[in-house]
Amino acid sequence: MENITNRRQRATFESDVEATAPSWKESLARAVRDPATLLDLLQLDKGLLTETQRAAELFPLVVPREFIARMRPGDPGDPLLRQVLPLGLEHEDAPGSRQDPLAEQNFLNAPGLLKKYHGRALLVAAGTCAVNCRYCFRRNYPYEQTPAGMEAWEPAFRALESDESIREIILSGGDPLVLTDSALERLVERLDRIPHLQRLRIHSRLPIVIPSRVTDGLLSTLRTSRLTPVVVVHSNHPAELDTATGEALRRFINAGIPVLNQAVLLKGVNDNADVLTELSERLVNLAAMPYYLHQLDPVTGSLHFQIPVERGLELIAALRRRLPGYAVPRYVQEIPGEAHKSDLIGLPPELEKEN
Ligand SMILES: *Cc1c(COP(=O)(O)O)cnc(C)c1O
Ligand code: SF4
Repeated sequence: MENITNRRQRATFESDVEATAPSWKESLARAVRDPATLLDLLQLDKGLLTETQRAAELFPLVVPREFIARMRPGDPGDPLLRQVLPLGLEHEDAPGSRQDPLAEQNFLNAPGLLKKYHGRALLVAAGTCAVNCRYCFRRNYPYEQTPAGMEAWEPAFRALESDESIREIILSGGDPLVLTDSALERLVERLDRIPHLQRLRIHSRLPIVIPSRVTDGLLSTLRTSRLTPVVVVHSNHPAELDTATGEALRRFINAGIPVLNQAVLLKGVNDNADVLTELSERLVNLAAMPYYLHQLDPVTGSLHFQIPVERGLELIAALRRRLPGYAVPRYVQEIPGEAHKSDLIGLPPELEKEN
């Protein structure tokens, strides 16, 4: 439970951040990349430093100050901190974990272009993120092979042009919203000229971690595109959804752009019916629809976040009892080789009782 001192500390911390109100690019540049600074800002035990520094060599620490401001100082178990804090556990080579758990390297149609599912293709539009999530299934992705600049993307555009079955293009990454507004505008204008494309989907965690990323320029690019836009954000815990984040999501909605959320089921973060209920409630109150709750992909270094599927099914059953149907996300797992993400479905209630 949060005590009063912590709440007071958090309040001053937030107002410090607000007082400076940096642009999103400044926020990105000022993101914390040094474990010692993170421990210091959160008044955490320096005894963690060596372990944290070593694990950050596997996958760098990156966390924006706006996101740190939503964490409880002095609490190493804070659910937002757990998502970003490098730990010695990441060195353990757990059985069943893989560098590329989804075998994505088999689905590259051109550099940076992944086509696994019918009608949809995904561009790994950027090789970096505003926040490095320790459980990320692309934490070992060879981003250095990702094209940079419009010229380098031409083979991917030509592959898209030659496959008329593709209706929807997904900008993913990394995080596509680390690209500047003008780079995104050029990219979207080029995609607009591919006649069979109908929809443009953006997968991004930036509106959650640095809400000022939802600029007028970004909204204008999405609104003026010939393609119908959909934004899918990524939030795992209700404490991520503060006022500024709510306002950022509202800007998409007010521009007529639907917002969906995907979350990952994570031990010690959101493996709890109350937390998941609150996450869904806050999302739907902001008019952002819960879309997927992902079973963790078994990427090397992240298995300490793993929750058994049986537990996930119990949690979904609890959400069904508590929430409107539209507020219950689909619990899914990605199984390499399947034609779509696979729903993890429990038994119907009457059978559940018999078992
Ligand atoms: C998840 C994913 C998609 C999108 O799948 P939806 O079920 O439509 O959300 C598309 N391409 C790839 C490679 C993916 O991993
Ligand atoms: S923002 Fe998304 S792509 Fe980037 S590290 Fe987090 S989960 Fe991975």
